[in-house]
Amino acid sequence: AQTNAALLARRQAAVPRGVASAAPVFASHAENAELWDVEGNRYIDFAGGIAVLNTGHRHPGVIAAAKAQEDRYTHTSFQVVPYEPYVALAEKLNALAPGDFAKKTLLVTTGAEAVENAVKIARAYTKRPGVIAFTAGYHGRTLLTLGMTGKVNPYKKDVGPFPSDIFRAPFPDARAGITVEDSIRALETLFLTDAQPDRVAAIILEPVLGEGGYHPVPTEMWQALRAICDKHGILLISDEIQAGFARTGAWFAIQHSGVVPDLITCAKSMAGGYPIAGVIGRADVMDALDPGGLGGTYGGNPVACAAALAAIDAIETEGLLARSTALGESMRARFADMGARVAPYRMWDIRGLGAMLAVEFVTDFDSATPDGALTKSVIAHALKRGLILLSCGMHGNAVRIMVPLTASDAIIEEGLAIFEAALSDAIA
Ligand code: PMP
Repeated sequence: AQTNAALLARRQAAVPRGVASAAPVFASHAENAELWDVEGNRYIDFAGGIAVLNTGHRHPGVIAAAKAQEDRYTHTSFQVVPYEPYVALAEKLNALAPGDFAKKTLLVTTGAEAVENAVKIARAYTKRPGVIAFTAGYHGRTLLTLGMTGKVNPYKKDVGPFPSDIFRAPFPDARAGITVEDSIRALETLFLTDAQPDRVAAIILEPVLGEGGYHPVPTEMWQALRAICDKHGILLISDEIQAGFARTGAWFAIQHSGVVPDLITCAKSMAGGYPIAGVIGRADVMDALDPGGLGGTYGGNPVACAAALAAIDAIETEGLLARSTALGESMRARFADMGARVAPYRMWDIRGLGAMLAVEFVTDFDSATPDGALTKSVIAHALKRGLILLSCGMHGNAVRIMVPLTASDAIIEEGLAIFEAALSDAIA
């Protein structure tokens, strides 16, 4: 029988260390919110493959749709012989995305590719080079998206130079002393010092910072950015790759604000575990590039399209938007209670939108010094007790919750009880 230790040794010899794994165990099989390793240990999965599994591992509808598609064809390349599932998924995404205007959708394979293409499209449409992103934003690991990502360690370390014409403004974080006003003032200063506004193609941000710590964008921030974009002819892009597809209780997290972006990037939970991503946007903007200017061999793979249509159907028929909102409220209350009882003055913040929740740990409430060590310890103890967790945040001192929205109340409570026990272990 295989062991985790033997596989770990093989992995270390064969796979570069730059690809890190949060858990030192190897997957055997998984179902909805549960996963078993090769030694037969069972885990509750609060990581969801980094926010990919809002509909759970192997959702029956997703698996059935993918298998049915595999029995017909698995690849033609949409650029050689097109197929209906790509068109059907584009139609569905155009209908779901906010905005009372004609929309079109480009399908690609990964989130980084979606962001790269959103920038290409914005540049081609505006004929301008500049892109403005925010501190702590995460947009991918390819060189353009890495340039837009606002965190050095570990992503940007030693791999520059990055593409030019990428500018950065501070993300508003009231508890860190940066108000929406401060953030907008810094952006206006950027227009005076470095970024000529009529040479800026797009402003991009995540509606809830993902890797950056699950900080939601305040509604007034979205409103201010929309006004600035309209004033200068800049396109507004919402990077919904982590926050989209019911995680926050809406199809797209920006919908909570009522502000309508010009372009949306999406990936992850749109297809319940299959690699596919997209750029959804205003039809006139999306049509900026000439034929051949967009695409890629695998973009919009038919099996992934079929899976995405089924995952979207599951979100609709199983009421997962409402489920996310309810789950967010109950988990928030549970964490508040747990923090007060088990870790007084260490759980500094419980934040997020809907079921996109994070809890942040500090050494004490007076100094509010980020406690990455405590966070690591909670995650390690949780794994030993059978719960998979992931951290986030600029200082790695928050734990984010991405549990499948299809998980039963009993499984979620079992996971939260393990979280509480792990927190006790780590504090002791
Ligand atoms: N944008 C956001 C907001 C993300 O969370 C991620 C992935 N964590 C990406 C872009 C990049 O996606 P991928 O890893 O599929 O390239």
